[in-house]
Amino acid sequence: MGPATSISDPCADQAGRHEIAAWLRGEYPGGDDALFAAARRALERTVGPEVWMRGLLEYSNYCRCDCHYCGIRRSAEVSRFDLTDEEIVAAARECADAGFGSMTLQAGERRDRRSIVRIERLIRKIKTVTYREGLPEGLGLTLSLGEQREETYRRWYDAGAHRYLLRIETSNPSLFAQLHPTRQTFSDRVTALRTLKRVGYQLGTGVMIGIPGQTIDDLAADVRFFRDIDADMIGMGPYIPSVAAARTFRRAADRSVAERLQLSLRMIAVTRLTIPDLNIAATTALQALAPTGREAGLAAGANVMMPIVTPMSRRQSYQLYDGKPCLDEDSVACRACTPARAARLGRPVVPDAWGDAPHAHRRKGAEYE
Ligand code: SAH
Repeated sequence: MGPATSISDPCADQAGRHEIAAWLRGEYPGGDDALFAAARRALERTVGPEVWMRGLLEYSNYCRCDCHYCGIRRSAEVSRFDLTDEEIVAAARECADAGFGSMTLQAGERRDRRSIVRIERLIRKIKTVTYREGLPEGLGLTLSLGEQREETYRRWYDAGAHRYLLRIETSNPSLFAQLHPTRQTFSDRVTALRTLKRVGYQLGTGVMIGIPGQTIDDLAADVRFFRDIDADMIGMGPYIPSVAAARTFRRAADRSVAERLQLSLRMIAVTRLTIPDLNIAATTALQALAPTGREAGLAAGANVMMPIVTPMSRRQSYQLYDGKPCLDEDSVACRACTPARAARLGRPVVPDAWGDAPHAHRRKGAEYE
């Protein structure tokens, strides 16, 4: 899709501070169904009804970070893996052949020179081998590789990656501090997000929803954070406890499964109404809480799905949280299943498209005015 010629007036949909919190509490006039319908209308008006696919390759679980909630944090007892270059390139070919048009490379965070250079080489390689008639510039490439130095972000951008996902996890600095060891700071995370924008990436961020101690006002502030940081895409989903998390985070969440699911759907809808022209993913974590959680995400205003293309034999070792779905399905199954879910809702899935958010083009265009 080209630049955002179809945007009417994004501000017309903007929700105010109090409305955001009220809607998150379930107080949208007419209830949640009316909220989701309004979000779908905002989506259709600004971005369109299409659902974009990004093959998600979780290529390694080695990680230098120790995020307390995460199933692959450094001190988690999990067998570590790193796919070979050949396996990564093969997965990229698979994505292009499946018509996904775009791919996300995700892994634990590493900053050693060897892995930085390796990723640069792989980005160039993937771009070269995924040229297709419908993909004249190869697969669209999103990275989700944590906080890095500006020079590293630049290197990968220059090699051909054009989007980056780095969740703020929560915009409440004291909650962020409870979730992370002291050396992982909120201000470093914000700096990394700003750096990514400066380098030129389309910026993705997001939060976990239903973190113990997180309030509705925190979530309302998260939506404002997305707007203020000028995010182009949002990936967010329910917080789900992991057996491999730090002891205090192993306990059940303080909101029920049903509450976390509903709150996640409201977050999608409210974000869509606040910043209508960005991309929002219906994340796998939604499906961990309900068999059709991702479809519910699409129905609440999401427009991106991320079929997992990680080889089945490695999926057990990339469980960020317990109950992650699709562990016993191979990538062939996910390749067919995910677009079918969108199609069942009557939403068109466009093959061979990068599916950039109009928001990103609006900003780029504005720079040259
Ligand atoms: N190293 C990359 C990828 C991190 S894992 C990075 O730093 O960005 C991707 C996301 O999984 C995290 O940002 C976090 O929001 C989510 N995640 C991790 N543990 C989770 C849990 N227990 N419940 C829900 N989401 C979780």
